Amino acid sequence: MIVLKKDSEIAKMREAGRVLARAMRITSGAIEPGKTTLRELDTIAEKAIREKGGIPSFLGYGAAPGRPAFPASACIGLNEVVVHGIPGDEVVQPGDLVKLDFGVILDGWHADSAWTFGAGEVSAAAQRLMNVTRESLMQGIAKARPGNRIGDISATIQAYVERNGYGVVRELVGHGIGQNLHEAPSVPNFGKAKQGPMLKAGMTFCIEPMVNEGTHRVATLDDDWTVVTADGKLSAHFEHTVAVTASGPVILTTEED
Ligand code: MG
Ligand code: MG
Repeated sequence: MIVLKKDSEIAKMREAGRVLARAMRITSGAIEPGKTTLRELDTIAEKAIREKGGIPSFLGYGAAPGRPAFPASACIGLNEVVVHGIPGDEVVQPGDLVKLDFGVILDGWHADSAWTFGAGEVSAAAQRLMNVTRESLMQGIAKARPGNRIGDISATIQAYVERNGYGVVRELVGHGIGQNLHEAPSVPNFGKAKQGPMLKAGMTFCIEPMVNEGTHRVATLDDDWTVVTADGKLSAHFEHTVAVTASGPVILTTEED
């Protein structure tokens, strides 16, 4: 069931999104290539979220039979990591792609956003992958207006990514969000236009293209969380929480209006 949010509820998600975006700015600004560990970035992210009254929603999330709960505040991964990286003692190296994915609960409402950062100078190929992934997110967001369907978002992202020669991940998709981190509907980054649920004002969801330099296929590591590209090539991930309103899409996970 897709839960439509009132304007007052979207306003609460907007505040959660502001806390998240601020934490993203602070954490990404702390990346020192050759020096910073992923665990240190996680600590910085958690502090930035909590000092504004937020709760990191990924901490302890997702325990299932045979799978431990997520053990950190943020999902952080490098290079071939697609999503759900567990931040550990790895040191960010010059030229790495650093993926930060944060979830924040504020006053009972969720926000979820991810960004890919280059550590110092990155290769032209890595920069292009980041640019195409971010642009695919923005093109997808532009379709989040009443009367369109989820498939219009999906098809727009897929077409842009594949036109640029990259693979769009199938196994993981965007999702509705509100009083829960994951709600209906699913928001795939691939699919056909004019299909799927009709978009209405009051819908809130995360659009989050995961784009691979090579094959779209992925694998999961033995920690049962970390998802990597099947061929070991680079991946980039950009995500915003978005509200559909009568006047069009509103991005909730930015610091400024
Ligand atoms: Mg998400
Ligand atoms: Mg996320």
